[in-house]
Formats: sequence, structure tokens, C-alpha cells
Amino acid sequence: MSSRAYVGLGANVGADLSSTLAQATRALAALPGTRLAGLSSAWRSAPVDAGGPDFLNAVAALDTTLQPLELLDALQAIEQAHGRERPYRNAPRTLDLDLLLYDDLVLDSPRLTLPHPRLGQRAFVLRPLLEIAPELARLAMGDDWRAQRIERLGPLPP
Ligand code: ADP
Ligand code: MG
Repeated sequence: MSSRAYVGLGANVGADLSSTLAQATRALAALPGTRLAGLSSAWRSAPVDAGGPDFLNAVAALDTTLQPLELLDALQAIEQAHGRERPYRNAPRTLDLDLLLYDDLVLDSPRLTLPHPRLGQRAFVLRPLLEIAPELARLAMGDDWRAQRIERLGPLPP
């Protein structure tokens, strides 16, 4: 029995952000027991609560037999492989992979909170997520996210 997980991808440091996200998507698809079930367009967004250049964001839908913490471990390993460092909170990042949803699991543990805590207020999560899963519109909270600067670019390179 597989579960449906949604993963938010973001990057704002590096020479070629779209190839970073495309590589990360391939790494997600190659995880054990995992199939890529959907992929949003690439979206360009202004940093929220952070400085630095614009982000490139996308959301991937995964069907996976990995358990939530196994999936989080895998996401962090992919981040590390892309040279992710955490010098300070909300620092610019080469690759950020957030587990947005795992089925309808609600979890509040030291390493993992589900649904992802800020999912409902961030345009850079909601726009790509609702592009591939419009039935999740109930997750949007308030209207602030509608005013955040974000632009749909088009498909990620293969
Ligand atoms: P950001 O909130 O900006 O994505 P980080 O990527 O540095 O920050 O994540 C910080 C910590 O958040 C990680 O060490 C991870 O254990 C924790 N975390 C809690 N819930 C989640 C989740 N749903 N997805 C990803 N990381 C999570
Ligand atoms: Mg993160």
C-alpha cells in the first residue's frame, strides 16, 4: 500500500536553479518504493522572511512506500548532496526540500511536523501545489498569500 506525499522544492543559490530542481526531482523519483505521480511548473517567487535572490519553486507528488521519517531522511540526504548548509535560519539555500503532506497524517514531532506548518500561508507552496492538486484548496489560509509576488515560468527541464 503506498502513500501520497507532496514535496516542496526550492532553491535560490546556484548557477542554474532549474537544473537543480530537475535533478532533485529525478532523485525523488529514484527513491526506493517511490514513483513520481505529478510535478508542477517551475515558479519564480520573492524570498519570504529572507534576503537574497528570488527563489525557484516547484511541488512534486510522490506515491511512496517510505514511511514519513524515512522520506524526511531521504529529502535531507538529497539536500546534503546539493551542498545544503544551514549557517543561520532562513539563509539562502542551494536546495530546500520540505515534506508538505503525507496522506492526511497530522504529526507534531521534534523532526517532523505535518502538514508542513507554513504551507497554507505561502504562495510559493500553494500555487504549485494547487496547480497539480486543486482539490487541496481547503488548505489555503487567509488571503495574504494571494498578494505575494510569484510568477509561473513553465515546465522544468527533463
Ligand atoms: P525551512 O523551514 O526554511 O524549510 P529547514 O529546511 O532548515 O528550514 O528545516 C528545518 C527543520 O525542519 C529540519 O531539521 C526538519 O527536521 C524540520 N521539519 C519539521 N517538519 C518538517 C517538514 N514537514 N518538512 C521538512 N522539514 C521539517
Ligand atoms: Mg526545509
